[in-house]
Amino acid sequence: MPGPRLSSLLRKEVRQRAGRRCGYCQTPEWLIGMEHDIDHIVPRAHGGENTIDNLCLACSSCNGFKHAKTYGIDRESGEAVKLFHPRKQDWNEHFVWGETGTRVLGTTPFGRATIESLQVNHPLIVIARSIWIEFGYHPPRIAS
Ligand SMILES: [Zn+2]
Repeated sequence: MPGPRLSSLLRKEVRQRAGRRCGYCQTPEWLIGMEHDIDHIVPRAHGGENTIDNLCLACSSCNGFKHAKTYGIDRESGEAVKLFHPRKQDWNEHFVWGETGTRVLGTTPFGRATIESLQVNHPLIVIARSIWIEFGYHPPRIAS
């Protein structure tokens, strides 16, 4: 959906605020060697605006799988729940790194639905994380 372009100042603010990490999977830009996308948390297709509180940094994988989704299915309850909101919700309250550090586990319905909808544990990123772990770059320490 076309809309007004985000100003470079707004993009810079979103990127800095995020510490250059994806708001969903926490992958840092410097580990994959490219800039993440600016995600509209509430998609523009659903009326989401170009405001700082509706924007977050998202890697191209998370952003691509999220697309215009706002809800996902929590497999534990089978219910549709809203996807994790990186501005209104705290990552540490909804996600935790699994024992080996290669997979993100959802600790709430929002977390579980988001992991599945955005394929946060896509086989390719799980392989990448296992390599990052070998070199001591992962998992990240997330300040709460
Ligand atoms: Zn991501």
